[in-house]
Amino acid sequence: MLKQFIALLLLSVSLFAQSVPGDYFERNGEVYFRFRVFSKNELSDLTKIISIDKYDGKWITAYANKDEFRKFEKKGYTFEVLPPPGDVPVEMGNPRDTEAWDVYPTYETYVQMLNDLATDYPNLCRVVDAGTTTQGRKILFLVISDNVNTREPEPRFMHSSSMHGDETAAYVNMIRFADYLLVNYNTDPLVTRLVNELEIWINPLANPDGTYRSGNATVTGARRGNANNIDINRNFPDPVMGQHPDGYAWQPETQIMMNTGTQYYFNMSANYHGGAEVVNYPWDSRQARHADDNWWVNISRRYADTVHFYSNNNGYLNDLNNGITNGWDWYYVYGGRQDWFTYFRYGRELTIELSSTKLIAGSYIPTIWNYNRAAWLNLTAELLTGIQGVVKDPNGIPVKVKVTVSGHDATNSEVYSDSLTGHYARMIFPGTYTLQFSADGYQTVTVNNITAIAAQKTPLDVTIYPNGWVPVELTSFTSEVVPGGVKLSWRTATETNNLGFDIEISEDGTNFTRVASVEGAGTSVYPKSYEKFIPLASAGKYYFRLKQNDLDGSFTYSNVIESGYGVVKNFTLAQNYPNPFNSSTVLNFSLPATSGVTLSVYTMMGEEIERRELGQMEAGEHKYRFDASNLTSGNYIFRLNAGSFTASRKFTYLK
Ligand SMILES: [Zn+2]
Repeated sequence: MLKQFIALLLLSVSLFAQSVPGDYFERNGEVYFRFRVFSKNELSDLTKIISIDKYDGKWITAYANKDEFRKFEKKGYTFEVLPPPGDVPVEMGNPRDTEAWDVYPTYETYVQMLNDLATDYPNLCRVVDAGTTTQGRKILFLVISDNVNTREPEPRFMHSSSMHGDETAAYVNMIRFADYLLVNYNTDPLVTRLVNELEIWINPLANPDGTYRSGNATVTGARRGNANNIDINRNFPDPVMGQHPDGYAWQPETQIMMNTGTQYYFNMSANYHGGAEVVNYPWDSRQARHADDNWWVNISRRYADTVHFYSNNNGYLNDLNNGITNGWDWYYVYGGRQDWFTYFRYGRELTIELSSTKLIAGSYIPTIWNYNRAAWLNLTAELLTGIQGVVKDPNGIPVKVKVTVSGHDATNSEVYSDSLTGHYARMIFPGTYTLQFSADGYQTVTVNNITAIAAQKTPLDVTIYPNGWVPVELTSFTSEVVPGGVKLSWRTATETNNLGFDIEISEDGTNFTRVASVEGAGTSVYPKSYEKFIPLASAGKYYFRLKQNDLDGSFTYSNVIESGYGVVKNFTLAQNYPNPFNSSTVLNFSLPATSGVTLSVYTMMGEEIERRELGQMEAGEHKYRFDASNLTSGNYIFRLNAGSFTASRKFTYLK
């Protein structure tokens, strides 16, 4: 091994000349080099040509494949070729068999280790084979959660390492992180909460062809790019530069990560690199700050502070602003995974540079572990905070909705609920916010004055109603003449966002004015009764209606009822009896005047599935037996129409 190292050194020394011949690329795939720039403005062009790795204000270190490098050469910079960071000898073995986790596995051992963890902890851990690379290696994820084989309404955190194949600081450590979560489940309280309340995805090796560039037996010889010498972290669709910012087709590794990130909504993710020591937060591709910049700064700062504590402030992870930076402030990147997840997938991805040395020695792996373990746990625990809940329709079916923080969100900083579980998590800097939940075909729900508290979860479950659904279900509205005026009574079955009722009066049945208001219940799933005395100065015939106002400013009118001189004219539809029922049930209703009556049956989604014309019926009390034998079991709605009157009731049919 030592001989090989010396040979590699000699090879590198011979390359300090200012040209890179074609056969260099045949042997190495890519070149690692550095050059001087005099203004940061130069980076905006350069970042589109080569893969900038680091910028310290003067020097750029970068990678390029042959085509990229030939373009770069035309710019006329004087450059220095550097030895490939992956060409260092390392200790190989089975890290899980060693106490210290201080060796690298062969590719086959890596795959075996992941499968072993799933075998050893079948209720807590499973392996997801997300796809195959150019050279036939696997992109694997460990999924860790209680009830790991069930898609639960829980937020998802994804840890991923080494998409630059020669940046291995977190590769073995991510396997160790999975092992740590499994071993300490039900003993360590934080680990237990993380496993119980989250779904944790761990992808230790995002670019196996790059890491095992010289063969499955060793990581010595690792390269940044994949088997096609393409930097995957410049290969993603870009919010600013479009679908193919690097000019290359999406690589298998890119496509696999995009498929996985589309199939599973990752609420947060971390992307581990090496070559510097800094936490980098969005955006990389635009100067404007993310809407949640204060939140990003806060979680990045806490990551760095935690690491500084565990490294005894020995200078580790203190690049740029003492270990944190906004991506654009450092250097521009187009096609990076961080902005793809954050912009296109409405996620929250950090790029964490864990080590100045790219391919770290086996003996240094445990040091990285000791410095970062607590920060990895705490970062994952961010998903135990923020405003979280489940979004369902009134029938209890989860709905995928967009969650917007009013007056706050911008440039795709909104989040979505999971399409299968309805779960959403809106991590946000502590404060008081207004949230809107919206989806095509549904009425937007607005929730005011929701307070997010540091290090705590604010629970907020939401029911979202399909368009056409009456959110406040009025089941009766009646009047009774009393001395000096009229007493109005009404009932609701359920209320959502109900600010209250305005009572409106009219002498002609057309022109109404408000005479009183009654506060609503807000949101209630229980029946509510209301009544209000309305003084009337002069005798006569009056018309009344209710204007029901929602918290978001929208409103709905009730039916109109008449009242005057001892004449009580009511339209009511009582709850059917029995309910729930098996084959038939009885509806009781009263009519204020002879009317043509129609009874319709709707699904909970508002689709009319049956209509019965009951014919002309006289004023007074009526009973109607409803036979439901042609329906399937479930919840439905009756709607009774009589002239200008409409009323509805929910019912449950059990076959
Ligand atoms: Zn990197």
